Amino acid sequence: MADYDFDLFVIGAGSGGVRAARISAGYGARVAVAEERDLGGTCVNVGCVPKKLMVYASHFAEDFEDAALGYGWSVGERSFDWATFIANKDREIGRLNGIYGDLLDGAGVTRMEGRARVEGPHSVAVGDQRYTAAHILVATGGWPRLPDEPGSELAITSNEIFHLPEQPRRLLVVGGGYIATEFACIFHGLGSEVVQLYRGPLFLRGFDDDVRTTLAEEMHKKGIDLRFDRTVQRLEQAATGVRATLSDGNVVEADQVLCAIGRTPLTAGLGLTEAGVELDANGAVVVDEYSCSSAPSIHAIGDVTDRINLTPVAIHEGMCLAATLFDGRPTKPDHRDVPKAVFSQPTIGSVGLSEAEAREQYTQIDVYRSRFRPMKHTLTGRDEKSLMKILVDRASDRVVGLHVVGPEAGEIVQGFAVAIKCGATKAQFDATMGIHPTAAEELVTMREPASD
Ligand code: FAD
Ligand code: NDP
Repeated sequence: MADYDFDLFVIGAGSGGVRAARISAGYGARVAVAEERDLGGTCVNVGCVPKKLMVYASHFAEDFEDAALGYGWSVGERSFDWATFIANKDREIGRLNGIYGDLLDGAGVTRMEGRARVEGPHSVAVGDQRYTAAHILVATGGWPRLPDEPGSELAITSNEIFHLPEQPRRLLVVGGGYIATEFACIFHGLGSEVVQLYRGPLFLRGFDDDVRTTLAEEMHKKGIDLRFDRTVQRLEQAATGVRATLSDGNVVEADQVLCAIGRTPLTAGLGLTEAGVELDANGAVVVDEYSCSSAPSIHAIGDVTDRINLTPVAIHEGMCLAATLFDGRPTKPDHRDVPKAVFSQPTIGSVGLSEAEAREQYTQIDVYRSRFRPMKHTLTGRDEKSLMKILVDRASDRVVGLHVVGPEAGEIVQGFAVAIKCGATKAQFDATMGIHPTAAEELVTMREPASD
């Protein structure tokens, strides 16, 4: 390795790249990382972090209302100032960018600013400079896709939504995945009129069907205009905003159209195929169980491999790769039972199998299901229901799926994910004392299966 400039050259300082660089350096490797935009990547700059801050911002409207409706508070005149919020959010993101830089510097990683390109199995160029490395790590993430329909250049993506000069009063959201659903809820909470359009019969494909229908009902009750089985045929400039003609013939006018129809792995023009790296039809780097590409010295982690596109997964893959390459411990990332949250309103938290998947994989499944009004709303009268659902393999008594729709579902499911990872049985759930009064206690007190 001494013949190379570095032991590891990381392309992309996002969730996965930063962690792989720091841990590898901690094992004694000489590491460089190149970043062409902002440290921290998608999650810190245009993903999880600013999105979650927006979720907080958007919740206040209901909180103020609930305080007055049920709890005796007098709530005065209230208004939301987009510019103030965006400035506060940007200050926090700037602080995080600095922390990421300090973490890399503290670990002894060489930082480079600029676009990197693979020039060969052991060679990377950043601008005019060329570097050699024993191993190259591609951690370049993904980029939002835009549709082909006429006028799609009038739409924005999640990259732009965080930096709009003003809040769109009318928002059309196209897509039925995580991003579309989260932003439909965020902007509704901030007071915008929101239409969410999805091409299939029910959004959030892949999640448990009860979870999907529960969230659709709750969003509908809040006043979000959900339109399924429809697509956009064309977008045109309108006097104020954008006019969308839908496949059902209807027209929707909005100040902004947010397209959230998936992301493409960022491999174009990176020099990977020339260096012997196989890409799939979507441009993702094809990797083995150890995150190694078809070129033995080139590895890839995170969204660019299009496995499970979540920050904790990219981080985990980065740590496994560092252990494999520089700590003498070949380590495969574990992609089973990854807990997930959709930060919709109410939130979804989910771990393990959906009911449909569980029925496919096991002969007999017991389904425990509870729908109830959260205690807080007994006083407010708000018509909001939570869902808790557990799927149990009858033969082994193991809990193979757990799903929550309701306030703080992500926080609840994070804890239960440990139990699922440990292979907990329904009997062990039953033996666990509830914490009263909480919503989560429902998960350890459900006694009668709903159906089998
Ligand atoms: P990234 O974080 O995208 O980092 C890749 C980096 O590589 C970028 O900084 C990019 O500029 C850089 N780069 C690319 N090409 C080059 C090049 N040629 N040279 C130099 N640098 C380059 N996940 C969650 O777990 N929870 C959430 O709540 C969540 N919310 C999200 C919300 C939104 C709106 C989006 C878009 C994503 C969200 N995600 C969430 C997904 C999460 O952000 C990604 O899974 C995660 O960031 C992937 O990390 P990564 O390291 O693979 O790539
Ligand atoms: P998703 O893959 O989650 O959803 C894409 C959506 O767009 C699906 O509803 C899909 O429909 C639809 N779609 C795809 N192509 C078209 C098209 N041509 N026309 C109309 N609709 C289309 O992608 P997102 O962009 O929402 O998010 C990207 C990823 O980022 C997520 O998968 C997730 O991994 C991550 N993320 C995680 C978050 C979290 O953890 N809370 C939050 C935000 C993002 P269909 O289902 O029919 O294919």
